[in-house]
Amino acid sequence: MSTENNHYSFFEGVERNFDKAAKYTRFEQGILEQIKACNSVYRMKFPVRIGETVEVIEAYRIQHSHHKLPCKGGIRYSMDVNQDEVMALSALMTYKCAIVNVPFGGAKGGIKINPKKYTTYELEKITRRYTAELVKKNFIGAGIDVPAPDYGTGSREMSWIADTYASLKPGDVDAMGCVTGKPVSQGGVRGRTEATGLGVFYGLRELCNTAEEMAKLGLSTGVKDKKVIVQGLGNVGYHAAKYFSEAGSKLVGIAEYEGGLYNANGLDLEALVAHRKSTGSILNFPGATNVTNSAEVLEMECDILIPAALENVINADNADRIKAKIIGEAANGPLTPEADVILNAKGVIVVPDMYLNAGGVTVSYFEWLKNLSHVRYGRLEKRFSENQSGTILESVEALTGKKVSDIERKQIMHGPDEVDLVYSGLEDTMIGSFQEIRETMISLNIPDLRTAAFVTAINKIGVSYEELGIFP
Ligand code: NAD
Repeated sequence: MSTENNHYSFFEGVERNFDKAAKYTRFEQGILEQIKACNSVYRMKFPVRIGETVEVIEAYRIQHSHHKLPCKGGIRYSMDVNQDEVMALSALMTYKCAIVNVPFGGAKGGIKINPKKYTTYELEKITRRYTAELVKKNFIGAGIDVPAPDYGTGSREMSWIADTYASLKPGDVDAMGCVTGKPVSQGGVRGRTEATGLGVFYGLRELCNTAEEMAKLGLSTGVKDKKVIVQGLGNVGYHAAKYFSEAGSKLVGIAEYEGGLYNANGLDLEALVAHRKSTGSILNFPGATNVTNSAEVLEMECDILIPAALENVINADNADRIKAKIIGEAANGPLTPEADVILNAKGVIVVPDMYLNAGGVTVSYFEWLKNLSHVRYGRLEKRFSENQSGTILESVEALTGKKVSDIERKQIMHGPDEVDLVYSGLEDTMIGSFQEIRETMISLNIPDLRTAAFVTAINKIGVSYEELGIFP
């Protein structure tokens, strides 16, 4: 979130958005204060031997809310990590989980290092020591607090965390549920890698399928033929672009750190990825125009703009020049509060990060459930479901005297695999939550989806605190 033109920190910025939304809720001040507060802040320093010297590493784990347990949130490795940032991100996790009905409190962790500075061996030592510190203070565990990947971390780090935790807690049958985002071989779930980008697609598709919202923008319903620009061709951006392309949208622009591309007739995503792999850059892609200053791609003609890279990329300086009618916040905090005001006034629909990029935590929840149940999704019902479909199909063929084609037979007979069930759960979550936010917006006459998303979250957390009661 922005600190430009204002003098409040990231966490204070989140609090300001909260206060704006709290006016639309019915909770007493004390409950609102409790929802807003960061419950537990653990700042640690620990020594790690790097080469010949001992380095003292600064790290955090912050649990924002305990209204549901465990707490959940990623771990970031970056030199920008500080207490305020981790507090803000942990608060956003609380609201994000509530919006998509994931029964967790929010948390976040961070280690103040530049991961590029260390060897794999050194990173493993730092990660394992950080995990041991969390175990010592009871800040990690399947029922306590469950980290996940974030900036600078991935499935490799999550594996190290799980292994360290399991070694320190021998006999804990749920040890693998202490962290999510693990590789499938280490208890991860299929579909986690693409979950955030796919969730972005499902969320924006739901908006585009809502005729009243499209009428406000003068657009036809559906995502087919919609012109899309994506900033950041990383995990989230690539997958969002892939699902839009497959659904018949036109990917007209891409912005990456080395430059941007535009082609009003559409870019072939897989050919572009192959081009980048062979040349080391997206630039000079056949048929497309190079845009030297990649930030300018954000201002080009399109229906849907998806910033999926960094914070604060749409701000008071460029918001007025944005031509998109829909902005889907795939990244965390791509719009500054000033940009939000300008774009709302222009009638642009902004789909907020807190909802739109929640696909990752949703599928992390599925991974945690898988770890606690110790069985792969679909293992019990796949064959049963296939046999049942086969029986129904045989009856229909016998009754009609007609046979379906081999391709149709295969489709009808297909029992659900793990990935099918994960996608289905994710799709249902993104559709249901969008409609819930929109209904809140309409029923309370709230001007924008971001405030409505906050209101939905506060209402759920508030009821949870009220019904829990206050411990004497
Ligand atoms: P990533 O590192 O895989 O991808 C980011 C991409 O942005 C990279 O390809 C990078 O080259 C590009 N980029 C960097 N600087 C740029 C610039 N100036 N202009 C254009 N592109 C630039 O990261 P990611 O996992 O895809 O995350 C992207 C955003 O989504 C972050 O804000 C992250 O917090 C958020 N997010 C990610 C997840 C997830 O599951 N990965 C979940 C929720 C939110």
